Amino acid sequence: MIRTTCPYCGVGCGILATADGTIAGDPEHPANRGRICSKGAALGETLGSTARLSHPQIRGRTTGWDEALDLVAETFRQTISAPGPDAVALYVSGQLLTEDYYVANKLMKGFIGSANIDTNSRLCMASSVAGHIRAFGEDVVPGCYDDIEAADLVVLVGSNAAWCHPVLYQRLVAARDAHGTRIVVIDPRRTATCEIADLHLALRPGTDVPVFAGLLVHLVETGCCDPAWTRSPAAGFAAALDAARGAAPSLRAVAATADLPVADLTRFYDCFALTERTVSLYSQGVNQSAAGTDKVNAIINCHLATGRIGRPGMGPLSLTGQPNAMGGREVGGLANQLAAHTGFAAADVDRVRRFWNASHMAIRPGLKAVELFNAVLDGSVKALWIIGTNPAASMPRAGGVREALNNCPFVVVSDCWPTETTRLADVVLPAAGWGEKDGTVTNSERCISRQRAFRPAPGEARPDWWVVREVGRRMGWGEAFRYRGPAEIFREHAALSAFENDGGRIFDIGALAELSDEDYDRFQPVQWPLRRGRGAAGTSRLFNGPAKFATADGRARFVATPYRPLAEPTDRERPLVLNTGRVRDQWHTMTRSGRVPRLMTHKSAPVLDIHPEDAERLGLAAGGLARVESGYGATVLPVRLTAEQRVGEVFAPMHWTDSFTSSGPVDRLVGAVTDPVSGQPELKGTPVCLTPLSTRWRGCLLRRVAAPLPEGPYWWTRVPLDRGHAFDLAGWEPLLGRPSLDDWVSRLLGAPPEAELIAYADPGRGDFRFASIIDGRLDACLFLARLAAALPATDALVTVLGTEISPGMRRGLLAGRVNNHATTEDAQAICVCFAVGRRALCHAIVERRLTSLSEIGAALGAGTNCGSCLPELQQILRSVQRKQAPAA
Ligand code: SF4
Repeated sequence: MIRTTCPYCGVGCGILATADGTIAGDPEHPANRGRICSKGAALGETLGSTARLSHPQIRGRTTGWDEALDLVAETFRQTISAPGPDAVALYVSGQLLTEDYYVANKLMKGFIGSANIDTNSRLCMASSVAGHIRAFGEDVVPGCYDDIEAADLVVLVGSNAAWCHPVLYQRLVAARDAHGTRIVVIDPRRTATCEIADLHLALRPGTDVPVFAGLLVHLVETGCCDPAWTRSPAAGFAAALDAARGAAPSLRAVAATADLPVADLTRFYDCFALTERTVSLYSQGVNQSAAGTDKVNAIINCHLATGRIGRPGMGPLSLTGQPNAMGGREVGGLANQLAAHTGFAAADVDRVRRFWNASHMAIRPGLKAVELFNAVLDGSVKALWIIGTNPAASMPRAGGVREALNNCPFVVVSDCWPTETTRLADVVLPAAGWGEKDGTVTNSERCISRQRAFRPAPGEARPDWWVVREVGRRMGWGEAFRYRGPAEIFREHAALSAFENDGGRIFDIGALAELSDEDYDRFQPVQWPLRRGRGAAGTSRLFNGPAKFATADGRARFVATPYRPLAEPTDRERPLVLNTGRVRDQWHTMTRSGRVPRLMTHKSAPVLDIHPEDAERLGLAAGGLARVESGYGATVLPVRLTAEQRVGEVFAPMHWTDSFTSSGPVDRLVGAVTDPVSGQPELKGTPVCLTPLSTRWRGCLLRRVAAPLPEGPYWWTRVPLDRGHAFDLAGWEPLLGRPSLDDWVSRLLGAPPEAELIAYADPGRGDFRFASIIDGRLDACLFLARLAAALPATDALVTVLGTEISPGMRRGLLAGRVNNHATTEDAQAICVCFAVGRRALCHAIVERRLTSLSEIGAALGAGTNCGSCLPELQQILRSVQRKQAPAA
């Protein structure tokens, strides 16, 4: 059993893992204390995938490392000599380990001589970084997870922690159950997190600044501010309060701007004002905004004004999305930072240059993510290396990013799996993945933990630090990139943090600079800072006084945050606001989580959530198709009617890509307006219009292989199965209108010429059924009908895919009689750990008279393992109880 950490979210849970894929939460890790969520629990099922990239490729041709690395190094070297270092760029990832991140930044900023290295963390928490630097003088998270449990009030802003940070959410639920923590959720959507909220403020998107400006004014007017924090003129409180009064001229004005009831707003303000132990958790709903930095500072202002920071149970706490977003910040992973929490001031540049003995030190910030891909598109960046991320699907204006990559003279992509981005690469480099490499990560509470290898990498896949080292050596910097392993890189990273650091830089892990390789192997989780000579205990909280910050005078800074509405307003042409975000069991663009069948059972397809009033006005029915169009692109999505959405706003998940659905990535629709301070793009406020498409037919397809389906016009989505793939299909043009139905069906089935094809057709009823059999085994089957209700359930047909088909079974198969009582509702797993579906759950609640989550757990096991499903179990329990309650 190896102690490692989860590669998904920023909670940074400790995991116990074995080479055979057995996974458990680590009871000794401070982040999770043995807990684990559904994604973490399924990690074992992501190991050993046959689809991994295992050998370097040059333009589709498999080759060896020497040829691939020589080509990368030589092309970069030529590009640096003309047109120059700024024509080279790296785009990396919060999935990288700190050691990978460190050497990539050193190569780019210290030796190639440009700061054109940015990271997908720009899309995640760049606004928090900028907000921290403005308020604290340095990018430092003041508190820790224990504060969530010690708080009397927890305010979640733009955070669906129940789905996106599930283990922290479980800790919050346990704290609420133990001592009655009050919980306020501020989010335009009624998310699963609202299940435990005492108050949900469903504010108009983009109005967080007026809400928190109004809170600051309220704190002043009710005498709740602490003069020790507000009285210093240098702290900027007067200007911040002026701006707050401008953004929030009165309670009624805030309520009108944010579209909230005055009574709810008053309740929140009073609750905050009267509760000293208050923690504000915020996440992508705050950060992913063209006003994200101001939102962050509007929240921090309220904590500074009351002195509620740096003490147990209080403080602002940004939840990072990715497992090592924080580690990336430590090494200067963002284009506007240098290593060890320094910037591009001349003294910082000189210090890092001397420490690295750098030959070509970057002297100014580089291009931030959106700017970087714009520069690729306009041809000023000519050689690009992408490591561990999939921008062709995840960047806003993803269509433009694809065009940029297509036009770029030289694109290198390092990854574990084929992606939309590797398809556009000149050189693909196979990366060692989770469980196959060693290094460290830092979670949202500054806790550094080890990731440890426990199985070999496939084929010739190598850790990213090794690949960067090899390129650096081949470019002529062998001495600077002589590392023998990640421990050596970590020691150098730790030493740099302490280099000429007299306490002015808070990020200091100098106490770890002399770890032996054995110490590094045994490394236990610890929170920075960890200065030389100050013991090995780490630091759980910082800033417990008004003059303990990383500014020139040591005082925190209040920041004036004027209100700016959504950067792109809706209008008559595009009257709805598109919000994007995560679902519970998927991660990023599904390159890992999308390979686990049981993680697809919670949400098996991308859907557009819309309020029933909007749906009725637009003529959209539940499950029907809508064409969604923004100023940047268009797609087709099925709709889900839900009052969890505000009227006038729709929501789509960010995960599904072209590999999984014809809808493609939703980021094709999203614009790329960025925050002027942080450069983080607005991902949650794109104006769109919807057009209903009347569904003429529905289909289900089961296939052994996942090869691409023929082009439209129709919608499809794919769900991986243990022995193949299930596709849902729907069309808005008549089936019989197709010029060659036979050819289209044959391409859908993917049937080779030797396949035996059996078919049934009733054109009058619009009913078509096909099966393709190879060597006596069912290779694919396809059902098409006018109505979804006429289709057999795909989860029942799955059981015969790839198996021998007897003559009797053939008849039954085409008649759709294979357990056709199952419905989609049955297939939706609520608890993926114990495979408990909605129907079984409702049945058990009624028949066994279950009245609480603990009774459900005792009866079915549901909710007793990872706990990710607890909010939905609670919703379903309430809904069944409401239906059963006698009419008043
Ligand atoms: Fe992994 Fe879940 Fe923990 Fe996040 S909460 S680190 S996804 S186990």
